[in-house]
Amino acid sequence: MPIRTVVWNEFVHERENDAVRSIYPDGIHATIAEALGADPEIAASTATLQEAEHGLPQARLDETDVLVWWGHKAHGEVSDAVVERVQNRVHQGMGLIVLHSGHFSKIFRRITGAPCSLRWREAGERERIWTVALGHPIARGIGPMIELPNEEMYGEPFVVPEPAETVFISWFEGGEVFRSGLTFGSGAGRIFYFRPGHETYPTYHHPQIRQVLINAVRWAYNPAPAWVDVAAAPNVPVERAPEPIVRKGPSLHKGGEEGYR
Ligand code: ZN
Repeated sequence: MPIRTVVWNEFVHERENDAVRSIYPDGIHATIAEALGADPEIAASTATLQEAEHGLPQARLDETDVLVWWGHKAHGEVSDAVVERVQNRVHQGMGLIVLHSGHFSKIFRRITGAPCSLRWREAGERERIWTVALGHPIARGIGPMIELPNEEMYGEPFVVPEPAETVFISWFEGGEVFRSGLTFGSGAGRIFYFRPGHETYPTYHHPQIRQVLINAVRWAYNPAPAWVDVAAAPNVPVERAPEPIVRKGPSLHKGGEEGYR
């Protein structure tokens, strides 16, 4: 069965700005889904902010293995109920790939529990994205670096929790550096943040960037989702301990060991 992937986009810039529309006529989401379609093991579809429940009703999320997120201008218009739903699915094992200005999305800030702030400048600078995690599956086939002739600058400090892995680090023409490819874990979910993708540059048409996106979807796919209710903290009674035990001392709980949460 292919990896069921939904590419979500707020889809605002492309409808409001001619320059952005000329690069992404059907939206960034359509371009990314097309890129992912080059891998026969990925089945990519799209969803946008404007659709009912932003295109992410529970039934669809339940059948999604990996969610890709692009947002910038309309983070505040994303419903908290949908964000909570996405977060719960990540905890259960759905992969999440957050792109570029998605660093300030509700879902990324919530799942990292951090400000996710950074420095930025829009000057069409050259960016070199260096591979620093040798042998990492997300960097497969990428080689030492990706060079983008024009991109928005994102600079450190990027205020996120210490990542599980740093896959890429960017250098910018103006001198700043940025941790451009970071992995995190939350519950059974695998999360990847990937920096490039400012809407006024053709970044998602770049062959190496498209390869990273494919690699990231394959990496984020967790074929062994959580087998427990990740939202619950059930008590394990004495008689159900893996080894036989007797209680030493009283339980502070009314009714003994039952129901302590
Ligand atoms: Zn941007």
